[in-house]
Order: sequence, then C-alpha cells, then structure tokens
Amino acid sequence: LNRRLAEFGTTIFAEMSALAVATGAINLGQGFPDTDGPEEVREAAVRALRDGRGNQYPPGPGVPELRTAIAGHQLRHYGLSYDPDTEVLVTAGATEAIAASLLALLEPGDEVVALEPYYDSYAASIAMAGGTRVPVTLRPHDGGFRLDLDELRAAVTGRTRLLLVNTPHNPTGTVLTRAELAAIAELAVERDLLVVTDEVYEHLVFDGAEHVPLATFPGMRERTVTIGSAGKTFSFTGWKVGWVTAAPELVRAVRSVKQFLTYVSSGPFQYAVAEALALPDSYFEDFRRSMLARRDILAAGLAEAGFEVFRPAGTYFVTTDIRPLGEKDGFAFCRALPERAGVVAVPNAVFYDDREAGAPFVRFAFCKREEVLREAAQRLRAM
Ligand code: PMP
Ligand code: GLN
Repeated sequence: LNRRLAEFGTTIFAEMSALAVATGAINLGQGFPDTDGPEEVREAAVRALRDGRGNQYPPGPGVPELRTAIAGHQLRHYGLSYDPDTEVLVTAGATEAIAASLLALLEPGDEVVALEPYYDSYAASIAMAGGTRVPVTLRPHDGGFRLDLDELRAAVTGRTRLLLVNTPHNPTGTVLTRAELAAIAELAVERDLLVVTDEVYEHLVFDGAEHVPLATFPGMRERTVTIGSAGKTFSFTGWKVGWVTAAPELVRAVRSVKQFLTYVSSGPFQYAVAEALALPDSYFEDFRRSMLARRDILAAGLAEAGFEVFRPAGTYFVTTDIRPLGEKDGFAFCRALPERAGVVAVPNAVFYDDREAGAPFVRFAFCKREEVLREAAQRLRAM
C-alpha cells in the first residue's frame, strides 16, 4: 500500500462483520438493514433485468429515468430544482460519490475541514486526493454531540478548499440545526469554499428534528455537491446506487473522475431506484417511523444495560459512552463484546484523528428487526 494510504488497513466494518460471522454474535456494528427494501422496488429490478434494461453499459451520468427521479426527489422534498441532464450524476453508492467529488475538486495540499468523528471513507478519500484533513470535533453536550461554530471558523485557513459536511451525522446521530447550517453556509460563502455534503440519512430524522439540505441556503446551490444513497433511503445497501446533485460545472468535474473509477453504475438497479424515488410520501413516513421505534427499543435497552446513551436525532446509529460500565477503551470493549455478550458494535475511535477523544464511545446500529434489538438488549443487560 502506498504512503498516502498506508494508515488505512481493513475498514472497521469489515473487521467487525467478520467477527460477528465468526462468533455468531448479533451484528449491530456495520450499518445495514436486516430487512430488504420495498418488494415493489425489488420487482422493478427483476423486471428491468428480464426486459433487458440496463444489462449493457448504461449512460455514464446514469439512466435518464433515474436522473429525472433524483431531480424530482430534490424538488419534492426540498424545493431544490436541478436539471437532470446537467446537474445530476448517478454513482456507485455514496462511497463513490464522496471519493469522486474529492478527487475531482482537490489539488494536492488542499485542506479539507471535516466534522469529527467522520465516516471512515472521508479520511481515505481525502488522502487519495492528496488533500489534508482538518477535523473539527463534535463534543458531548446536553445529551448529544454538538458542533462548536467558533472551532469550525478557526479551522478554516488560506489553504482550505472545501468543507465536508455530514448531516444527519454518522456515527453520532446529530442533525445539524437550521441555525448551524446557516452559519456553515455563511462561512463557505465568506471564505469562498466548496462544500461536499453527505446527506445519505436525509429521511431518518426524529423527535421533530428537520433535515435541511445545505444547498438550500443563500449562495450555496452553486458551491455545494449534495450526496444521497438508495442504500440508506430504500434499504438496498447491496445495490450500490448513489447520486450527486450540484451545479453543472461541479457535476462535470465529478463525472470526469467517475468515468475512470467505475465508468458507469449498475444498470437494472438504476431503473428500480427511479421507481423507488417516486414512492408516495407514506413510504418515507413509514420508514422513519419504523426506525424511530427501533431507536427507542435499542436506546432503552442500552440505558438499562448501564451505557450512557446519546439519543440520536437522526441516522440509524446510537452512540454510547462506556465509562459508566467501568470501561474506557472502546476498541478493547468492542473486540471483547462478541464473546462477552454475543453482540457486535463499532468503536467510535476509528472515526477520530484524536483517538483519545473518541476512546470511550461505542456505536450500535438499530436498523435491525425489533426482536433482534430486544435480544441484543437482553444480552447486554445480562453481561
Ligand atoms: N456516507 C455515510 C455517512 C454513510 O454512513 C455511508 C454508509 N453507508 C455511506 C456514505 C456510504 O453509502 P453507500 O453505501 O451508498 O456507498
Ligand atoms: N455506512 C455503514 C456504517 O457506517 C457501513 C458502510 C460500510 O460498510 N462501508 O456502518
């Protein structure tokens, strides 16, 4: 492995999922649902395969039906208008969207200000692009993890090219407020920064929290690359269909990279995701409600088991503090947990440059059937 990537070995998700398989433990580590998305959407994929739609290379930017559906989704949910021909790009999951955006927009040595803890592919993608990551740490405050706007402002230097934002935020479950997002937007405009915003959990917000896309703020539409994913929104993480919406020159840049990473994304699934995006509002409401019920089961179970629980306002993850259990090293705790309790979780430290700051935090995924969450909670209480 070259020097740029030497620090990135196997991702924690692969390591922990392998541990779950090896021990037979309940896997609340890697974030993937244990129930597939809507049957009608699966049927749409089968139909596309059978009818020979997308079985050969689809168009590089994505099939027109899907690009139109993505633009329709941004308009329906956020009032954001994008031209499907020039302002939408289909990617191989959000992961490729992130990598291609950073590879397209960074010069070697450019600084990227990113929220910490950060989703693991951010650090690797910044490194692949030759950029330097500058983390701004979300800190525990009042039952959640909060962004300090002064720290964010102080992190921007003359070398900063781009802000990399994630809301709803993995792994903390923080949903940035309208006021926080407005401040981020003002900073981006004032310092003339590009913004890449990972909004893959856009439909998973709870307790009255609201997801507000950064692109909706004044001066932001032209400088913001917004990323979404069918894996998260429709529970098809194996399909690897994601997307980018942005101004034409930004989409053109990201597309230039995408064509040499994967060239195109898998064809038949694109037709199915186009149908999924057109599902009525009730789909999105039911999806949110079912995840909320699961959050409450797991959060209550973890609290009863003695964890300090940071109740997430979004995503399908709950971050805990293990210190009330007399533990302080999340890595050691997660490596032992499958044997000790038959449950797999992820140490948040892997999402920090400052591993010390992340050490006591452990993330559990609640995108699992209710009976699975109850069983996991039972095991943790008995540990
Ligand atoms: N961003 C965040 C914040 C995520 O949690 C994930 C994990 N699914 C991704 C991006 C990657 O999404 P995809 O599976 O569509 O590549
Ligand atoms: N995004 C999911 C998580 O945070 C997993 C994605 C992956 O395995 N790379 O757990």
